Amino acid sequence: MIGFGVLSGMAVTLRNFIGSYFEKDRLTTVQYPEERETLPENYRNFPFLVYDTDDAEAGLRCVACKICEKECPPQCIYIVKSEDKKPDYMAKPQFYPRIFDIDISVCMSCQICVEVCPFEAIKMDKVFELSRRQRFDALLMGKDELAKSNTYYHQIHPLEAAEVDANLAAAAAKKKPAVESKATPSANT
Ligand code: SF4
Ligand code: SF4
Repeated sequence: MIGFGVLSGMAVTLRNFIGSYFEKDRLTTVQYPEERETLPENYRNFPFLVYDTDDAEAGLRCVACKICEKECPPQCIYIVKSEDKKPDYMAKPQFYPRIFDIDISVCMSCQICVEVCPFEAIKMDKVFELSRRQRFDALLMGKDELAKSNTYYHQIHPLEAAEVDANLAAAAAKKKPAVESKATPSANT
């Protein structure tokens, strides 16, 4: 029948319109910012630097290897390596970033920095309200602002963070015998 498709489409619209007064699931409009949807586990927006313990400086996982800086397609990461070293999560002395900046006006949220980091040190955040009133320097996010705890990482990406913790624990357990054998010379030496 001519027009049947239009009528059935209108019937669906009408059913959802009336149903939205009784069933919340049919109401797809979110009254942002008063209302906010829970973002899915895999939602990502902008990178942050993970630190362990409750010390953002001492617990920072980043060792300033600069791989992410080299691989970032729009080149929006800027790192200056420290001259001294600090212990990492396995107590191994490592360099750390003296400066670690990301230009949020250039970052395209591609996650390549996360993929290439061999130290699980950079992850994607879910924060999306990043507008600034000033241009230039205000759009440059520094190490202090980028550093967020592993506890925060667990809150925003619980499954992924648990997997990362398990991988780091397994890597630490694998290296432990080698470190202990170096520290304890054999009886023959
Ligand atoms: S998410 Fe992509 S564009 Fe943004 S800092 Fe990482 S590599 Fe660069
Ligand atoms: S975030 Fe990862 S890849 Fe980038 S400098 Fe730090 S350790 Fe290297």
